[in-house]
Amino acid sequence: MALLTKAVRGTGDVLPANSYKNRFIESTMLEIAGNFGFKEIRTPVFEHTELFNRSVGETTDVVQKEMYTFDDNGGRSITLKPEGTAGAVRAFLEHGLYNEPMPQKYSYVTPCYRYEKPQAGRLREFHQFGVECFGADAPSADAEVIALAKNIFDFFGIDDLHLEINSIGCPECRKNYQNALKAYFSEKKGELCETCNGRLDRNPMRILDCKSPICSVIAADAPKILDYICDDCAAHFAKVQKYLDVMGIEYTVNPSIVRGLDYYTRTVFEFVTGSIGAQSTVCGGGRYDGLVEELGGPKTAACGFAVGLERFMMLLEARNIELPAENPVDLYIASMSDDANLVAAKLASEVRETGVACLFDTVGRSLKAQMKYANKTGVLFTVVLGSDEIEKGVAKVKCMADGTETEIELEDFANNFIKISIDKAMESLTPDDGAVNFLGGLN
Ligand code: ATP
Ligand code: MG
Repeated sequence: MALLTKAVRGTGDVLPANSYKNRFIESTMLEIAGNFGFKEIRTPVFEHTELFNRSVGETTDVVQKEMYTFDDNGGRSITLKPEGTAGAVRAFLEHGLYNEPMPQKYSYVTPCYRYEKPQAGRLREFHQFGVECFGADAPSADAEVIALAKNIFDFFGIDDLHLEINSIGCPECRKNYQNALKAYFSEKKGELCETCNGRLDRNPMRILDCKSPICSVIAADAPKILDYICDDCAAHFAKVQKYLDVMGIEYTVNPSIVRGLDYYTRTVFEFVTGSIGAQSTVCGGGRYDGLVEELGGPKTAACGFAVGLERFMMLLEARNIELPAENPVDLYIASMSDDANLVAAKLASEVRETGVACLFDTVGRSLKAQMKYANKTGVLFTVVLGSDEIEKGVAKVKCMADGTETEIELEDFANNFIKISIDKAMESLTPDDGAVNFLGGLN
């Protein structure tokens, strides 16, 4: 029985009392991305396993041990997306979007699936907001996606996210670096964890990303990539920093950032916080100039990032950042009889047609119980319909905030109600409310 009433380990529900927060965060992020020219793309939750093997990389933790992979009934190997970039690139290729004017800029909100050890900020189903910019190889594009992430964090008033950047060079200059790493780690082979021993030949840079305490200590003294990158990559990295400087974006160069996925080239970056414990990277991204070609497309420069939404929300909570409250229900039409409830149903339909939120009784409750329910739900106005009101065509609208009552004609009820509610809103408006209402535009 327990299996029936318990969500799968590492997954969670967003309950109705909270879901408006997710909606607000997601739509705000998409909207801010829109200000930078990014348009939403939606791709399937699952793809051919091969897509992730090729794009994320065979030697990464994600591919080696974290993917949810299964054969479907047609015998295809299918994988639930562990991240958002691969699907966006696949769609970019499948629909020939490389023929459109460049750069092509996409944003998305997507669930992701990774079989990891669940803990605070680390789930098996989590959500990412991400962007991908295709066809822009200039350093200004790297700076632009970083500026977008920063703009989002600023909008929400998050002030303790710190930007760390690095360059991991291009496949050419990385060869020298990989040789230097191989030489360094080979000497410590006996101390490295088993996985890292396997990485030594195939992809020694992965060792820098290993979470095991011993490997991380060894990795701390490893050769630094910035001493090995070629002149072009170094010039690119310097220019990215110049753009960040003129945009007033603070950062630290952290040579140990290599990111967990194989497709990155040149700029990589993370936004890190000290407020939410060990899983401190809220946003990760960078440039991946080789990926489109790797998947069979034309050579296309690209860069992007992803924000982990659960970690982002933990951060909002840790910093006591309040989101605008959900819009309350405007009106509850209570009724004193079955007949009156029929009229309530008719009036509710009229009111909702004007875009106003309205409820009436669907339980068959007493008037007292209806009013109690309306009160608990936080309704702004109530109106009671009995045979008297229906006969006279007039009822009283009660403002729940101050208890005042205003007569309303049932003829042209919807418009009459809107007039009353606007009058009330004007009455209670204080100069400060302007900003609050502006933020509260959740409709
Ligand atoms: P980490 O080093 O924390 O494992 P990562 O390098 O695997 O992160 P990315 O693949 O770059 O992460 O994903 C981008 C963002 O998605 C991360 O910065 C993080 O906020 C979020 N994220 C990644 N894995 C998880 C997870 N298992 N649960 C919740 N959020 C996650
Ligand atoms: Mg990870």
